[in-house]
Amino acid sequence: MDFRSDTVTQPTPAMKQSMFDAPLGDDVYGDDPTVNALEQFAAERHGFEAALFTSSGTQANLLALMSHCERGDEYLCGQQAHNYKFEAGGAAVLGSIQPQPLENETDGSICLERIKQAIKPDNFHFAKTKLLSLENTIGGKVLSLEYIAQARALCDERGLKLHLDGARVYNAAVALKVDITEIIKHFDSFTICLSKGLGAPIGSLLLGDKALIEKARRLRKMLGGGMRQAGMLAAAGLYALQHNVERLEEDHQNAQYLADKLEQLPGFKPCKHLVQTNIIFAEVEAGIDLFTIAKQLKAKGINITPGYQGMRFVTHMGVNRADVDELIAELTNLLM
Ligand SMILES: *Cc1c(COP(=O)(O)O)cnc(C)c1O
Repeated sequence: MDFRSDTVTQPTPAMKQSMFDAPLGDDVYGDDPTVNALEQFAAERHGFEAALFTSSGTQANLLALMSHCERGDEYLCGQQAHNYKFEAGGAAVLGSIQPQPLENETDGSICLERIKQAIKPDNFHFAKTKLLSLENTIGGKVLSLEYIAQARALCDERGLKLHLDGARVYNAAVALKVDITEIIKHFDSFTICLSKGLGAPIGSLLLGDKALIEKARRLRKMLGGGMRQAGMLAAAGLYALQHNVERLEEDHQNAQYLADKLEQLPGFKPCKHLVQTNIIFAEVEAGIDLFTIAKQLKAKGINITPGYQGMRFVTHMGVNRADVDELIAELTNLLM
């Protein structure tokens, strides 16, 4: 039982069968029919001109940043953005692109006024501000459609491109009860992780217009991301997009349920108003040693991520309501 992340999901038998049956070719030659089918399906489904299958979300984000920005350009993003904080500085290291991180609000958004102030004037002292990158969901929180529309208007006004790190954008769509296109129509490019809540073992997608994706395809090759008979993985991604979206609602309900139960434990304060999808952050009283608790739970076959001031739980297709009950029962034992 694993509450560390939705990246731990295992392919279901039906998904494995689709991988087994996938027709294959050499994707570097453009010959893999299953990769082509995934990219075409993704482009049509999301109303974008083109899509690119990548080995990871990190790679998809890096390709987006390097496709929108040249050496010496700059992108604006959240201080908490995955593509600033958790991707080993790839945009700076490999793209010579300057990140300009801005404080995230509690709801995950970045204040539009702060964005305006961070856009550099066209003057040789400054890097050229080219792109705003948002993230949705961010820490499990959903950006409102109004906010996204306002960010789009600001980008149009100031001549910036707008990218979405949409690793979990399907969780956002399910939480808002809107079609995915209502969110992504505002963006010039976006990424999706197939390997998180959607349940594929490996893979992400980058979507954009034809020119952007062509540039990204060249860069993917440069980064060593050209994969050969990748159709086995693409088949899982296609299966994930076609079968595993609606069930995300179940993960969200389990997250709410887990947050309610955590609230009843001594010393645990789940940030309940911020539990909007499948991720729960809980503050934990100073006296509680989460590292010891994590070890004790591990001995019972339950994986969690301990932190110093609190912890994160993630629900996904690999944990059900009974698993949540068992986690709570074990935690109760250890705390009482
Ligand atoms: C997981 C994640 C990524 C990166 O995905 P990997 O496939 O792990 O490289 C990017 N952005 C966000 C918001 C993520 O949660």
